[in-house]
Amino acid sequence: MFSENNFKVEIISDLPADKTITVYRCGPLVDLCRGPHIPNTSFVKAFACLKASSAYWRGNKERESLQRVYGISYPDQKRLKEYLKQLEEAKKYDHRLLGTKQELFFCHPLSPGSWFFLPHGTRIYNKLMEFIRNQYWERGYQEVKSPNMYNMNLWETSGHAANYRENMFLFEIEKQEFGLKPMNCPGHCLMFQHRVRSYRELPLRLADFGVLHRNEASGALTGLTRVRRFQQDDAHIFCRESQVKDEVRGVLEFINYAYNIFGFTYELKLSTRPEKYLGDLATWERAEAALSEALNEFGKPWQINEGDGAFYGPKIDISVSDALNRKFQCATLQLDFQLPDRFKLEYSAEDEAKREKPVMIHRAILGSVERMFAILLEHYKGKWPFWLSPRQAIVCSVSEKSEPYALKVRDQIHQAGHYVDVDTTDRTIQKKIREAQVAQYNYILVVGEEETKTGQVNVRPRDNKGEHSAMSIENLLQHFKDETAAFR
Ligand SMILES: [Zn+2]
Repeated sequence: MFSENNFKVEIISDLPADKTITVYRCGPLVDLCRGPHIPNTSFVKAFACLKASSAYWRGNKERESLQRVYGISYPDQKRLKEYLKQLEEAKKYDHRLLGTKQELFFCHPLSPGSWFFLPHGTRIYNKLMEFIRNQYWERGYQEVKSPNMYNMNLWETSGHAANYRENMFLFEIEKQEFGLKPMNCPGHCLMFQHRVRSYRELPLRLADFGVLHRNEASGALTGLTRVRRFQQDDAHIFCRESQVKDEVRGVLEFINYAYNIFGFTYELKLSTRPEKYLGDLATWERAEAALSEALNEFGKPWQINEGDGAFYGPKIDISVSDALNRKFQCATLQLDFQLPDRFKLEYSAEDEAKREKPVMIHRAILGSVERMFAILLEHYKGKWPFWLSPRQAIVCSVSEKSEPYALKVRDQIHQAGHYVDVDTTDRTIQKKIREAQVAQYNYILVVGEEETKTGQVNVRPRDNKGEHSAMSIENLLQHFKDETAAFR
């Protein structure tokens, strides 16, 4: 049927002999398709071609280069229009565009997929980690550091050599194969294993901002969302089976706390035992029961994703929606019975002679810091909230006479630990204010002769335009302190 098309013949010949092949007909067109199809094209009321690009056959750069055409169809023009408008909107706030405008980060062809964070971008990056770190203090986590490269023997034990090899950067050191870590978990298992553990130490919550590398094909790299080098707010909780429920609830509360501050809404799904699974059935059932109990106690609505768990344990999927109503998967909450088994982890129980195996929980709130950075930049449309902002305030002097006072105000705000700049150029004050607005400073502080005399500043907050008021420096600093205090 398809002998005139080598590509289709190739698809068909690669299928197992007993596989049922389906074709769909639409008028004179008959094509290979898994289906389903709409009965006929009269159902298509509105459509648009979004883009076309070349793609290698089966993603293999050794093979033919073909054209891939992306299209979208809606049952009516109105919905299509809405969708296209939303796409336009998203393009305007693309993090790559905003990141360049705000001088936050860039990528160099000499290291594809690994981003440079400029000083202002680093302020945000570090603030995100500090935010999580402060919560670690509150929530009983302990931060650790672990190596970036390991002998292949580690990856053999963890199963990465068998299942994740193509995604790893491998190299040789003194005739032994090593790999850069794509995940922190195996290293944390070594840390647990490092000495005899007792039940009294559990739950042990080890957090690690370690640098991870994953070998993504250069063609797949996009902005900060698909990268080769990244950091996660990663942590592994080693606990007893009886502690799983409380630990999971604790993680859910942590996620809720952070996402409320970011202004995300989110949905929860419990992914249960897949067809192919490792470990014994009873453990799986107990774990799934503990997860559902934790979800119920947490009290937000949740759904079940039957059979969608990983082969090594059930998990909770958290999908967030941003201001443009797009969905992302950032947080991770995953139970693991396999790694503790592979690494033969154990702790002594109340009865000293008795050894028990811990359960491991993989969890992250931000997920990849790089990716969360991009999502937040687009979500806030480039207008960072004060606590995260790399440009919190700028002091603009009205004339040369107020310059010394402007510098003094700058120094005082800097001393108090906020990001502040000063503009003492001889341009007009209107021009300075306009430029500072474009640069998204949260507060523009205008100082003239009047303010110099009274020891005040004229405050123009970015987020309530037009409204400005005189304030003493002490009150301003107190206000800044209050605005950041909530995020600790
Ligand atoms: Zn992990």
